[in-house]
Amino acid sequence: MSTRSNNLTWAVIISACVMGGAMAVDRTLLSNSDAALPGRAIAEVPILMYHRVDALPTDAATMVRRMTVSPDELREHSRWLRDEGFNTISFAQLDAYFRGEFTLPEKPIILSFDDAYDEHYHVVAPILKRFQLGGTFFIHTDWIGQYDCLTWDQTRHMASAGFEIGSHTRTHPLLTALDDRALRSELRDSRSEIARQLGVPPAIVAYPFGESDERVQQAARSAGYSMAAGTRDGSFQRAGERYNLRRIEIRSGDDTQTLKRLIGGAPRSTLRG
Ligand SMILES: [Zn+2]
Repeated sequence: MSTRSNNLTWAVIISACVMGGAMAVDRTLLSNSDAALPGRAIAEVPILMYHRVDALPTDAATMVRRMTVSPDELREHSRWLRDEGFNTISFAQLDAYFRGEFTLPEKPIILSFDDAYDEHYHVVAPILKRFQLGGTFFIHTDWIGQYDCLTWDQTRHMASAGFEIGSHTRTHPLLTALDDRALRSELRDSRSEIARQLGVPPAIVAYPFGESDERVQQAARSAGYSMAAGTRDGSFQRAGERYNLRRIEIRSGDDTQTLKRLIGGAPRSTLRG
């Protein structure tokens, strides 16, 4: 299952992810239900976005290289986050904070991992556990148990170990290109499948390629998600943008100094990589 035989498939998905992120639509969706308690409309909660966490094959394509962090790098990041006193929270807790039902810890941060790679179970979860960090894993449900994706058993283990599982739709399509019916199915059916498999519906969906527009964000709300994550840069989260939260892309070669600058709000484009 972990062979590189479908590197090409992943390379296509990953490169589309990155390119989509660069074109992400910067729109917010405001409505009464997005209103936050006074003083809670904005919070400094950096959300880190990882993809593969694996040793790089020597012939890795540029995009694979860019989106792959080595286990040693993740270990180094985790140690640094712990030593600097960061406290991981879940998306569900961020949502509860906006609603006035959760108090943020000092230096809150969310660690998120996209695309359901099986090393998220074998490598990432043990590293996070070792450094007492939480994490959120975004899975595209139709792919679970196929290729080198997680299985439902592994996903259940991770959920029962306290990690948050979020939806990454059913098939990882570009949501803005779908008709209403397909859009609804990608959002609703992935949510209900996770609820069926894990016993709890996910609070959050991450848009494939980071792409959304007002119609997609409205559909995410209608499907029952409390929040949705995009790929726009930034460390501050706003209640009015809860259907397009900001995330910081972490790339191969990012050391803790880079991490520190990104978390501090430096735009990715000003840094190396
Ligand atoms: Zn993805």
